[in-house]
Formats: sequence, structure tokens, C-alpha cells
Amino acid sequence: MSSFTVINPATAQPVTEVPLATLEEADAAIARAQDAFPAWRSVAPGERARLLRAFAAVVDAHLEELAQLEVRNAGHTIGNARWEAGNVRDCLNYYAAAPERLFGRQIPVAGGIDVTFHEPLGVVGVIVPWNFPMPIAGWGFAPALAAGNCVVLKPAELTPLTAIRLGELAIEAGIPEGVFTVIPGKGSVVGERFVTNPLVRKVCFTGSTEVGKRIMAGCADQVKRVTLELGGKSANIVFADADVAKAAATAPYAVFDNAGQDCCARSRILVERSVYDEFLGGLEKAVTALRVIDPADDASEMGPLISAKQKETVLGYLDGVEAAFTGSAPQAEGFWVPPTVVLTEDTTAPVWREEVFGPVVAVMPFDDEEHAVALANDTEYGLSGSIYTRDLGRALRVARGVESGNLSVNSHSSVRYWTPFGGYKQSGLGRELGPDAPNAFTEEKNVFIAQD
Ligand code: NAP
Ligand code: MG
Repeated sequence: MSSFTVINPATAQPVTEVPLATLEEADAAIARAQDAFPAWRSVAPGERARLLRAFAAVVDAHLEELAQLEVRNAGHTIGNARWEAGNVRDCLNYYAAAPERLFGRQIPVAGGIDVTFHEPLGVVGVIVPWNFPMPIAGWGFAPALAAGNCVVLKPAELTPLTAIRLGELAIEAGIPEGVFTVIPGKGSVVGERFVTNPLVRKVCFTGSTEVGKRIMAGCADQVKRVTLELGGKSANIVFADADVAKAAATAPYAVFDNAGQDCCARSRILVERSVYDEFLGGLEKAVTALRVIDPADDASEMGPLISAKQKETVLGYLDGVEAAFTGSAPQAEGFWVPPTVVLTEDTTAPVWREEVFGPVVAVMPFDDEEHAVALANDTEYGLSGSIYTRDLGRALRVARGVESGNLSVNSHSSVRYWTPFGGYKQSGLGRELGPDAPNAFTEEKNVFIAQD
């Protein structure tokens, strides 16, 4: 069995070794999940709800431990990491209400009654990326378990520690063995096996568009259910009639949070030409004030990138590109890149088109509303975006015009566990979170009962 050395991204020092599951071990875990399924699906709704609430309570009791683990493993700021662990707890509590509310419908028919049932799929495979190890795991496993499925979860190789701990906490909370299993391993081994093993009835994947396409193609072979949450190149559109100072002051947080390693990062800022200079002035002030320091420090607003490789990729985008201004970063070991702002009017520039997945933002002026919407939509992605304007009609028109799954007006929020989340175009397929998420882990069955 091989193992993986987990590295602290802030220091480049090793943290621990994690064994990587082999194909045979992945198959054995999937088989155990399948064995656990008949009993789990028949747990009474109220009891399944109670178990999920117990799981949430145990996560809450270990919130600080989980958060500290994420700081060491992923370089997340401690403030973010606490929010992330709390998000897992909240997701579990929210979906704990689902088992008792997994309603079907009664549909009028002649000669009897017609009812529908939402039945669990069986074993669901959740594949998680390294950028938000805890929340993305929870968005998959909480609604899947609530709907009566067993879950096998593969964390990213780089960030397995919190997922492994969550697997242990589930057992501690009384979730039966085999119902929720974390399988650390390589994407090319364990992840691919979720796609090819016929016992896995759905793959819930978050990660790169490139791997997502392969997974979708692989799932086609068994007509396997699949949800994809992929990349993004989201636009933050600032109109001249907005509170420009507020738009400029908040823009860095919308792209540099998690060091820009966020699928929802507003990595393209579109600014109406008449306020372009004013906006840039405010943006420079905010970017240079950003506290890029040790993520374990309570005051830290941005930490390092996840790995040496990610740092190299991000710096590659800046090769030969002139930065307008940058923020600071520690001169330390570890994978640090300062927040960087690039100005461009070239819509073919890689920094404008491609998902950098690092602390780099490109700013471009626009002329009018139509131009702004056209520029925002000139991308293969469509995950999130922001609109800053004081004109309510314009806010509505632009929100309806931008081809993207999650938009916010005069704010940069996009992910709440109780509202739907997902992408247009090549940003994904299907939706997670929100009230309907458990249904995505079920088959709808229709039953007609004759009265005579
Ligand atoms: P990635 O390379 O696609 O990896 C994501 C996960 O898939 C990892 O667990 C990885 O395992 C696994 N994997 C890799 N190859 C696989 C294969 N052939 N079959 C099955 N699984 C495989 O993405 P990443 O580099 O970790 O994450 C960055 C990307 O994720 C960005 O593009 C970002 O936009 C996207 N993302 C999207 C969302 C969203 O909600 N839309 C959220 C977060 C991230 P290994 O770790 O072993 O490679
Ligand atoms: Mg990758």
C-alpha cells in the first residue's frame, strides 16, 4: 500500500502520512456500503433524522479540532476553517429534517389512486476537491444520507484529514458502520472506481471541468446518475450608479478569499468606464490592506496556495503579464502568492479567459449594460457573479441576463446551504444544496393502485 505525505501549505513542512486505498480496498469499501444499504434505507424516518442530528452535534463538539486540522492541511484561514466546520454541522441539521419530509405526490387518475415515492439510489460516491474539503463533502453526504443512501467519499489526495475525521465522528455519533465511509486514495484509482463499479449508483463530483467531463463520459457507460460542480470564471459587474466605494472595498474578498482557490471567485471585474479610475483607486487601497499572513492567526484574511504545483500554475499566468498592483505576502517557506490585479482590454488574454484558481484578478472597463452582459457571458463557464448597481430594474435585467447559476446583487454571497447551488454551461450539471437536494439522491417511483 502506498501513502501520501500531507504538507502544511503555509510552511511547506510535512504534517502526516495518509495511506492510499488500492482498487481492491475501494471495492471492498463499496461492497460494505452496499451491504449496509438495506438496513439504512429502512431506518424509520424519525430515527434517521435523529442520527443525522446526533452527527451534527458531534461535529459541533469537534468544531475547533476540525478547523485547526484544516488550517494545517489546506492553509485555510482559521476564521474560514471555523465557518467551514460549522457549515458541515448546519448542513447535517438542515437535511436532518428531510427524512420526515421526503414527500411524494398523489396525482389524480381514473380507476384508483396514483402515488409517487422518492426512493434512495443505493451507494452514492462523492468525489471532493482540495479547495473546500469540509463543505463540499457535507453538501454531498448530508442530503444523500438523509435520502436513505449509503455514501462512499473520496477526499482529494492533498486534503484528506478533515474528511477522515468526519468519517470517525459519524461512527461516534451512531451512524451505522458502512453507511458513511471515507476512502482516501488517488483520483485515478478510487475516484475512477466510483465511476466504473456498478454498485455505485450515482457520482457526485466537484472539481475541474476536465476531470468532470471524463467522469460524465464514464458514467454514460452505465447510465449512472451524475452531478457535476466544476470550474468558474465569474464576473463582478460594477455600474457607475453603484456605491463604487463599497464595490471596490468588497471586490478583493470576492476573489482572494481562500487565496482565489474558489470556484465562485469573481476573477473578472467589469467596471463601467466612467467610474473605472475611481474604482481602481478604491481597489488598490483594499488590496494593499488585505492581511495575507499566517492562516492560523485570527486576523488572517488570506493564506497560501495549496501546493508548490498550484503556485507554479498561478505564477505561469503572470509570466509576461504586467500587474497593475499587488498586495503583500509573507517572505516565507510555503506556497505564498500576493493578491495580484491585472488590467486588460483583451478578451483573449488567458488571465481573462481561464480559471487561474489563485489570487489573480483581471479588471476590464465596459461601456453600457448590454456590453457588460455580453462580456460577462463571453465564457464557457457560468457559476456565479455579482452585480453592483443602485438601479433595481437594471439589477433585475442583468441578473436575468447573465448565464450563471448563482448571482448576488450588491453583495458577493453565493453559497447558502438552504438555497440551490450549481453551474450553467461548463460549470456543471445539476444542483446541490437547497430544499430539493435530497431528491437528487433518489429515484422517483410512480405507483398506480386500482380500486376495483
Ligand atoms: P480535480 O483535479 O478535478 O480533482 C477533484 C477530485 O477528483 C479529487 O478528489 C481528485 O483526486 C479526483 N480525481 C482526479 N482525477 C480523477 C479521475 N480520473 N476520476 C475520478 N476522480 C478523479 O480538481 P482539483 O484540482 O482538485 O480542484 C480544482 C478544480 O475544482 C477547479 O477547477 C475548481 O473550479 C473546481 N471546483 C469546483 C467547485 C464547484 O462547486 N463548482 C468547487 C470546488 C472546486 P486527486 O486528489 O487524487 O487528484
Ligand atoms: Mg487535479
